[in-house]
Amino acid sequence: MVFVTGRCGRGCWYCPVSPERKGRDVAYANERPIRDERDLLEEARLMSAEGASLTGGDITLRLDRCEWALTVLKGEFGEDFHVHAYVPAESVDREALDRLAGSGLDELRIHPSFDEDVNERAARLASRYDWDAGFEMPAIPGREDWIVEVARIAERHGLDFLNVNELEFTESNARELRSRGLRRVSDDSDAAKGSEETALRGLARAADEVSLTLHYCPSSVKDSVQLRERLKRTALNVAREHEMVDEDGMIVRGEIRVRSGDPENVARVLTEILEVPEEWVRVRGDRVEVKPVVLQDLSDLLDDIAEAAGCELEAVIVREYPTWDRTVVEVWPVGED
Ligand code: SF4
Repeated sequence: MVFVTGRCGRGCWYCPVSPERKGRDVAYANERPIRDERDLLEEARLMSAEGASLTGGDITLRLDRCEWALTVLKGEFGEDFHVHAYVPAESVDREALDRLAGSGLDELRIHPSFDEDVNERAARLASRYDWDAGFEMPAIPGREDWIVEVARIAERHGLDFLNVNELEFTESNARELRSRGLRRVSDDSDAAKGSEETALRGLARAADEVSLTLHYCPSSVKDSVQLRERLKRTALNVAREHEMVDEDGMIVRGEIRVRSGDPENVARVLTEILEVPEEWVRVRGDRVEVKPVVLQDLSDLLDDIAEAAGCELEAVIVREYPTWDRTVVEVWPVGED
């Protein structure tokens, strides 16, 4: 995902953009800040991307960045590298669409307005280009009429699809959602109660009237399936020999944290005395990273390793995201599951 800018003049009360990005003219490829072409391409390669999305904010406020990203991605991965873009209906105009189409955009997803005329105009303009175009919107509990109305407009102008997403609580919109009486489905879910029912009822009504493709995306799919697949692809590309990738796409490794003494001594004990393959051991600062299964197997020998290396140490297993910022999600002592 290429986050083109956090700026947007629309101010939707349900806007999910994170507080760190919202309103700021910043660009990211997934979690990695983009400074130049290398950042964009590196992130695409690490996740073995076959396509990308341009998102924001309002991407039309930085069309130069959109054109640049399209040119870089298609230049590197070829014309078949599929790129779709999200644009608020209010910002759909001739210049923006000409520039996006001229740079090779494959698919346009319009975020509809509550104003029917605005959506009508956006759909009319978008239908004039040789790309797939449609609307993508959240299902706001109780507003199934909005879904039906947007589907009719899309149909009238020959657009290709309508995607409806389950509304989600995020850090940035939670207060607004709560102030409108919305609640989470459960403590374990960020989905808004009633959103799924609204989406399914709205789409069922729309299906009786339109022939375009209708699609519902539950938040569980967005979170667990799409995110997990991306993490797995990235993890398999970034995991080093002494690390492993678990079923959620997290990187797992063992770490011997050396409290006093020389970490190189610990590495030598592991490779020379215990015959752990060298590629499974790596010294990094005051830590010795080790293949996690090996470290688990050695859990009974930790005192002996410490004594032989003349070090004080603590051994843990670390689980972290394979993303650019490598956020650690879990650390637990060796020997525990
Ligand atoms: S158009 Fe998108 S980025 Fe802009 S305020 Fe609405 S939800 Fe947020």
